[in-house]
Amino acid sequence: MSTYLVTGGAGFIGSHLVKLLHGQGHHVVVVDNLRQGHREAVPSGIELVAADLADRAALDAVFARHKFDALFHFAALSLVGESMREPLRYCRENLGNAMNLAEAAVAGNCLRFVLSSTAALFNPPQDGSAIAADALPDPQNAYGDSKLLIERALSWADQAHGLRFAALRYFNAAGCDADGALGEDHDPETHLIPLTIDATLGRRPPLSVFGTDYPTRDGTAIRDYIHVDDLAAAHLAVLEPLERGSCRYNLGTGRGTTVQEIIDSVQRVSGRPVPVVAAPRRAGDPAVLVASSERFQKDTGWTPRWGELDDLVATAWHWREKHPGGYAG
Ligand code: UDP
Repeated sequence: MSTYLVTGGAGFIGSHLVKLLHGQGHHVVVVDNLRQGHREAVPSGIELVAADLADRAALDAVFARHKFDALFHFAALSLVGESMREPLRYCRENLGNAMNLAEAAVAGNCLRFVLSSTAALFNPPQDGSAIAADALPDPQNAYGDSKLLIERALSWADQAHGLRFAALRYFNAAGCDADGALGEDHDPETHLIPLTIDATLGRRPPLSVFGTDYPTRDGTAIRDYIHVDDLAAAHLAVLEPLERGSCRYNLGTGRGTTVQEIIDSVQRVSGRPVPVVAAPRRAGDPAVLVASSERFQKDTGWTPRWGELDDLVATAWHWREKHPGGYAG
């Protein structure tokens, strides 16, 4: 049994990792400011520290109480569009909080740091092909840059303090817990799959399809949707290569799905028509954002379990159908 700290453990991806670690008998402590996270998403019996990562004294107190084998850092601002309107806040909060955490971790002798990084680090190839495993970061938005700054700072901390880090560059996290205990509940919700489902259930206006003139097979943008349970499992899998040194991995499925294909999938899964309206492209959105996780699979033996798009969409459908008000409802 190990002891792990999970920041943002009451949020979407973090809560799925907490459930996995807890289920395996590990001791888990969650730090979450509960601005986006939900107390209900953290299983009872797990210590939930409702603190902001800007609060260094609160972090020091957590590290003084526990000896962590590793920490998983999810808590961050993560919306591309918002980051273009408030770049300074994104850099200050994301970088500042991560630095506070890293300093507290070094002081508390927790020298394994798994970072939620992002596909937004990359400037995708113009020809719409997948991002290569060795592609160099070239962020096109402030959110992506805030994560790159963290990765860079952590590599200096590795040199100076032996703080080993794994940067997991996620593509589009989607779906939810197969048991139906956890789901995706953001406020405001901006993500395609929950918005498509809510439009289908009549809980929101028709889905706005942002851009129907992209150079793709049906004119809508292509993303790489990876199941959140597969992402959670990847966090455990990366601990092994992390023992050999700091590392960075892309976590996609290598499968590109258009917005229209998501709409078609929700229609198949629900058996209902999906109301949609065409809308202009969203600022900062690339046409295609896809990458394989081949190198990660080779290094860790991890394989994604959720291969079928409809199966992934079905998990999200069931949760939202049962939780009309999200966790609060
Ligand atoms: N999208 C859309 N309508 C919406 C929300 C999203 O057409 O109401 C599109 C968006 O432009 C992108 C894809 O769906 O091409 C995935 O967007 P999401 O916000 O879910 O994730 P992102 O790729 O921005 O991380």
